[in-house]
This record gives sequence, structure tokens and C-alpha cells, in this order.
Amino acid sequence: MQEWIKELQQMVNTREKLADYVDITPDEDAAITTMRTRWGTTPYFASLMDPQDPACPIRRQVVPSLKEKENKYGIQDYLIHKENRAVGEKRPDCIARQYQDRIAFTVTDVCANYCRHCFRKELVVDQGLSLRFDVDEGLGWIREHPEVRDVLITGGDPFILSDEKLGRIITELRRIPHVQMIRFGTRTPIVLPSRINKELCEILGDFHRVPVWINTQCNHAREITEETARGVYDLMRCGVNVGNQAVLLKGINDDPQSFRELHQKLLTVRIRPYYVFYCEPAPGIDHFRTPVEKGAELIRDAIRGHTTGLCQPMYVIATNIGKVPLMPDYYLKEKTDEEYVLRNYLDQNTSLPVIPE
Ligand SMILES: *Cc1c(COP(=O)(O)O)cnc(C)c1O
Ligand code: SF4
Repeated sequence: MQEWIKELQQMVNTREKLADYVDITPDEDAAITTMRTRWGTTPYFASLMDPQDPACPIRRQVVPSLKEKENKYGIQDYLIHKENRAVGEKRPDCIARQYQDRIAFTVTDVCANYCRHCFRKELVVDQGLSLRFDVDEGLGWIREHPEVRDVLITGGDPFILSDEKLGRIITELRRIPHVQMIRFGTRTPIVLPSRINKELCEILGDFHRVPVWINTQCNHAREITEETARGVYDLMRCGVNVGNQAVLLKGINDDPQSFRELHQKLLTVRIRPYYVFYCEPAPGIDHFRTPVEKGAELIRDAIRGHTTGLCQPMYVIATNIGKVPLMPDYYLKEKTDEEYVLRNYLDQNTSLPVIPE
């Protein structure tokens, strides 16, 4: 049996197993024992938690909190609204659509880590919502929609599927003439790096007309280890690029130092920052959310100009009408008839002549 499957069988998802990794606080204990919620992580990711500090940035993503019962600002039936499931064209359950040329293809609701801040919480964590994950139905729909050139396979975590299932999805998609790229959203390079093995690389790999791109989710520098570095390197060796989609999380990465360190460290293991998402208004995750402006402030104060352009994510709010970028806007200070006044990250100014149209 492959190592990653063994690890999944040993998921840290009971009070007893969690106690092997951390000193459980009374609050954590109450959350675990009284709340009906799916939770747990891999032994690997569990071992990265700080045993003594309940505010550990990894621990807060793993261990349930009583705060999840509070819901002052979350939107009810968030996922149905966000993924336009109740409006417009008829689509299979597994297809979410916000754009003309690309779709999200949901193939499972199983994950290797049940992130407490998950925006698909209703489906993945609380399981109050159930969808039909019929891969053949999804593939059929994609075949009939020639305008779809880019398929983003998501979940849950699609890399939890068996090699056989994953291989079949990729083979079938690559047979569709209008599919030009396949993307995966998976946290396995961060929470289960053993999943990136020889067998997986064979399925994803080699030169092909239709490339595979991966975006993972890493929210704090402490989540990055040698194991992740090895996994990402192996993916790149088989022609797969790896990007990151972080979530802006209060008390985890919303200070300039953590935010910059995260993005710098990603590059050291060859992961290219792609997006930072505003933490979405799904129910029960108020305690992870900051004001919307926070992300743009962090890009301004910690990233842009402070470190290489290679490690600049785009800050976006994912909404039902697509992703809306919200970047800092200090660069253009003013424009007169003759010149633009530009500002840099150190608050220095320079000017550029205006060219009339
Ligand atoms: C995020 C998302 C995509 C992909 O968006 P990109 O900006 O191209 O990464 C596509 N479809 C849906 C429904 C999405 O939520
Ligand atoms: S891996 Fe993704 S889908 Fe799964 S719980 Fe985490 S954020 Fe949600």
C-alpha cells in the first residue's frame, strides 16, 4: 500500500489521537466533544502544530473552535449563492461556473485536512449540503461545452482520489479537443506531501498538449518543510507548475511579518504565489475574517517593493460574479496636464510625462 494511503488511514481525528500531538485546552476539548463537525488532519501536518500554543497558526486551521458556532456576518446557504447553483443555466452538481472559458469541477468532498476556515464548509466540513460528485456527468457536460478551455478540478481535495480515478479524469479531459489546460486545487503538497509520489507523477507527467497546473494552499511559513520542497520539485520535474492560493486569516497571517515571510518562503520551495483570498463570508468562520481592506494594506506594507516581484500574489475577493481584485492604489499620486506623479513603496515620488492620445 502506498504510504500516503496509510497516512490517511491514521488521520488525527479523535480526541485521543489529538492528545498525542498537543496539550488540548478546555476550549478545544469542548469544541471537539460537543460540536457535530468533520475535523482532522494527517499525522504529518499534526506534527507541525505547536503542542503548547493553542494560537499556533497551524493548530488554529486544524482544531475546531467553539467560535464556529457564532455566525453574525456569514451568509446562509453561502455555497449555493457563491457558485451560482440556483440560477442560470442547468449544470451538473459537480460543475460550478462563473466565467465563460473556465469552470470548477468538484470531484470529491474528502480532504486530508479539514480546514476550519474552509469556504466550502457547508459541503466539506459541516456536511449540511450534499452534492452529487458524478465525474462522468461532469466530463459529459464539458464535452458539450466547446467554450470551456480551462478545467479547474477541485473538491474537497482531488488528490485524495485514487491513482486510477485521477488518471481516468486526466486522460478523458485530455481527449477533449477544446480543453487546453487542466488545473488542480489541492492542499496535499502542504498537508500530505507523501501523496506526491512516483505513481502520481506518472499520471500527471510528461510533455503533453494539455498541461497540468496545480495551486496549493499554504497560509503560514511554518507549513513549509523539506517534504513540501521535495514534493514540489518532483511535480516540476514532471512538467507541473505549482502556485499558491493563501487565505487571509486573522491572527494567522494578517500581520506584515507573517505575510511577507510566507510569500518569501514559498519561493524558496519553488511555489509561486498566485492569489491571496479574502476569507469568504461562509457561515461559522467570522473569527477568521479581517476587514476587506486588510489584504491590500498587507500587499502595500509587506510585499510590493519590499521583496521581489516574483513573490507578488494578487489579492482577490472570490464572489458569485467571479474574483474581484483589490490591490493597493497608492502608486499614481496625481495626474496633471503635463505629468503623472508616481509613488513607490518608500513613499518617494517621481514623475513621468503625459502623452496626449
Ligand atoms: C476561482 C474559480 C475559477 C478560476 O479562476 P482563475 O482566476 O482563472 O484562477 C474558475 N471557476 C470558478 C467557479 C472559480 O471559483
Ligand atoms: S483542503 Fe480545501 S476544501 Fe478541504 S477543508 Fe481545506 S480549504 Fe476546504
